[in-house]
Amino acid sequence: MVYLNGVTVIYPNGTRALHDVTLHVERGEFVSIVGASGSGKSTLLQVIYREVKPTSGQVIVGSQDVTALRSSLIPYLRRRVGVVFQDFRLLPDRTVWENVGFALDVLGASKREKYRKVPVALELVGLAHKSDCYPHEVSAGEQQRVCIARALVNGPQVLLADEPTGNLDPDTSWEIVQILTEIADRGTTVIMATHDKAIVDRLRRRVASLLHGTLVRDDRAGGGYDEP
Ligand code: ADP
Repeated sequence: MVYLNGVTVIYPNGTRALHDVTLHVERGEFVSIVGASGSGKSTLLQVIYREVKPTSGQVIVGSQDVTALRSSLIPYLRRRVGVVFQDFRLLPDRTVWENVGFALDVLGASKREKYRKVPVALELVGLAHKSDCYPHEVSAGEQQRVCIARALVNGPQVLLADEPTGNLDPDTSWEIVQILTEIADRGTTVIMATHDKAIVDRLRRRVASLLHGTLVRDDRAGGGYDEP
């Protein structure tokens, strides 16, 4: 589903963020990308949703080569790839329901489609009962659930999560990661960048480790990872 083949990213200032990374992730797989701060985790996710274009190498999502994608086609890629961030990025003046609905508005969805899809997405993350709350009226963990619902509402094939538990306490972090694994088990490919060692140890799912931009380990059995 997501194939990185020999991907290198060198930023304009000369920083080499990824070096010759090859990583293949299949449909419904859940992969944690781990590594120290600055090791290239965010950049790896960013090449998948074409926030960053690789300097060399190839990125394929589904059957589409996103490396060669024309800028005008990037919005179509983003319909198939949902993204969740550490800092939530919710609209403060819109309700939980509206925040999720907004993701459909930007795609030009009809009102009818919104009324069909938003409740399903909120139900999936266990937040239907908070639909009318504003972001500041729900907990941090619930805000992250809203973000997951927003990323899922369009039925993406791939869900990317960049440090999704970075602002959450350990129990809430575990709940969020459980939701992400359930999403993977339903068939969406989930790739999560994290430096939360406790969670990765407990998950026992596939772990790919980056060290200074190089993929140094890809452990399909999952489990613990050694701090590089
Ligand atoms: P991580 O997510 O593991 O913290 P990043 O992918 O954010 O790592 O960063 C990898 C390296 O690339 C770091 O050295 C970082 O400083 C650098 N970097 C990230 N984004 C940019 C950018 N836009 N321009 C220049 N350097 C960047």
